[in-house]
Amino acid sequence: MRKKVVAGNWKCNTTVAEGVALAKEVNDIVTATDVVVVLGTPFTHITEVVKTITNKSISVAAQNCAAEAKGAFTGEVSAAMVQSTGAKYVILGHSERREYYGETSEILNKKVALALANGLTPIYCCGEALPIRESGKQNEFVINQLQETVFTLSPEDFKKIIIAYEPIWAIGTGVTATTQQAQDMHKALRDAIATKFGNDIAQETSILYGGSCNASNAKELFASPDVDGGLIGGASLKAADFNTIIMSY
Ligand code: PEP
Repeated sequence: MRKKVVAGNWKCNTTVAEGVALAKEVNDIVTATDVVVVLGTPFTHITEVVKTITNKSISVAAQNCAAEAKGAFTGEVSAAMVQSTGAKYVILGHSERREYYGETSEILNKKVALALANGLTPIYCCGEALPIRESGKQNEFVINQLQETVFTLSPEDFKKIIIAYEPIWAIGTGVTATTQQAQDMHKALRDAIATKFGNDIAQETSILYGGSCNASNAKELFASPDVDGGLIGGASLKAADFNTIIMSY
């Protein structure tokens, strides 16, 4: 049975004290045991948030890691450093990083390899911009994003990855993909994974939906057979809303 995962992406929000307070609230409110809950916090917060979490269902993620193992890369945070904080996951390939920080498939391949080498589980994001959706070429675009990156991994390494489908036009906009749009893409991605790695691996791969998923629409989105959870931005900053999303299964 593939894992159900609800991961929060706090982005560049909260001070350390605010983040620890939010993590404590989530820690205390979450009762679900069949859902893997992940808090994607800023780098500066991870160590303190890890210390705060006692709830066995909850792990912590970084939102990025460096494309180099170590060395003269001022301001970068390596996968080994992330691992040493107690984080278990790392969000990679988020569209904001692709767009604002020029993250290409080549850079992302290095990040994924370093994350895996350091025992971190990548939550690997993919998704199309609005013009691509309007042209009807979204499936081929997103599958190509995977072909250039995580489909180059060995089957053993691919099995360790979580995929997050995030249509860019739905991120932070309040416009959610319809349940049908999400299901269609997730099914297309699972079929592509089956073609590349075989049906057993495809059936075991968790594919999350992200893009204005909130306490009101999560239940409907998560009811789709190929949607295995969510990557949640804005709504992960309120513990009660985030918990409603977790309880939406
Ligand atoms: C995200 O940035 O990963 C995201 C899904 O954001 P939001 O939920 O705010 O659309």
